[in-house]
Amino acid sequence: MEKTNQALKGTQDVLQDAYKWQYVERLAVETAALYGFREVRVPTFEYTEVFTGSVGESSDIVQKEMYTFQDKGGRSVTLRPEFTAGVVRAMIEHGEINGALPRKVCYAGSCFRQERPQKGRQREFHQFGVESFGPADPAADVEIIALAVAFFDVLGLEDVKLKINSIGCPECRKEYLVRLREYLFSHRAGLDGDSLNRLETNPMRILDSKVPSTIEIVAGAPKITDFLCGDCSRHFGSVLEQLDALEIVYELSPLLVRGLDYYTNTVFEFVSASIGAQDAIGGGGRYNLLVERRGGKPTPALGFAIGLERVIMLMEQTGALFPEGKKCDIYIAPIGDAASKKALELTAEFRSMGFWAETDLMNRSVKAQMKYANKIGAEYALVLGEREVEEGAASLKKMESGETVELKLGSELCEWFTQARLMSVKKELNDIFSGGDFDGFDEPDEDEDFQA
Ligand code: AMP
Repeated sequence: MEKTNQALKGTQDVLQDAYKWQYVERLAVETAALYGFREVRVPTFEYTEVFTGSVGESSDIVQKEMYTFQDKGGRSVTLRPEFTAGVVRAMIEHGEINGALPRKVCYAGSCFRQERPQKGRQREFHQFGVESFGPADPAADVEIIALAVAFFDVLGLEDVKLKINSIGCPECRKEYLVRLREYLFSHRAGLDGDSLNRLETNPMRILDSKVPSTIEIVAGAPKITDFLCGDCSRHFGSVLEQLDALEIVYELSPLLVRGLDYYTNTVFEFVSASIGAQDAIGGGGRYNLLVERRGGKPTPALGFAIGLERVIMLMEQTGALFPEGKKCDIYIAPIGDAASKKALELTAEFRSMGFWAETDLMNRSVKAQMKYANKIGAEYALVLGEREVEEGAASLKKMESGETVELKLGSELCEWFTQARLMSVKKELNDIFSGGDFDGFDEPDEDEDFQA
């Protein structure tokens, strides 16, 4: 019997580490913005056909992994297993590809696939991705790859390798598919069951197989890059040339086809040796025919998606830094009713100034309150007893050093506190820059007039 008061297999609670997620998602969207990609949000579920008609009937996702159910209106709906299909649906539905092109969008959110859970593979996982609608030029392929590389760089991830291939257009694939089928057919005795099924329906997907005996056979298969037509070959050559110009290192992977049916031309994957068997951090490519196939006007397009669980895992594994979550600025510890009332006022005032302020909600002794203040990393504490309230002054304590300063409750306390926090930010910045030739921040020149 399954225990129904536990999280479902393959799902995860984030209780202490939400700051890591916030950091990674913020940097993803900020990096994408530098390349002109603006965030969009699309529904978590769609008509099932949105996915079956895009991702491809023979893909693993459609065949085995989708969370599909009938809603109360009898419609077949599916939790998104990936974003591209829904984003393409939205672009067509709202006429977004009829306006100024390229239309460049990015997104972050959860996806659902009923796979066998293991390290780095979940049933609910999160992706950050981009899609670029309109450009046929190889520069657009390079732009999204450069954006992914910039995202890894800004997170401090070093052990990420780019693998790249071109799977051409339907024209170049005609002869290739005949030759590939011939080759695989002649080796059919060694193929696994799934691959045998795909021999007729979609032999290129066999190149993706993870079954060792099939991998051995696939290693000797004809390579799509030997069959590219003139246009596709020039496109791929130009992508590689521009990657070289940007000094983006890649590995040519002639067997890389990606699992989804909608790709054309450039396909790529980012992998890392540091996160175990599920080594793909992200992947993407061109899907020049998808928009038309889904009922939009012919529009070349391309994109990628990166798995955020794996990014965070890689960061943890390789010791990349997450900035620490913000700590409490001030804890106000009241003793008695009058002090509690005053503490409430002061807490509200500090919060309105933008500081994280806390006071007692548990009716604790002052000793227990100070212990709690320490636990939440409060930078300062202010103990308020009856005498302090009567006299209108109290001593503010810097928790780390134990230093205290006596201040009048009210504007003197607020001003002193703001000044102290500013000084500490300034010191932090000076510490960060002091490794170089930086001489510290100058005090603003009082006589200097700012120009409007
Ligand atoms: P895909 O389009 O299937 O290649 O997915 C893009 C990225 O999403 C992969 O490279 C992974 O980083 C991530 N991903 C895909 N499926 C899962 C999963 N079940 N659990 C965690 N991450 C996943």
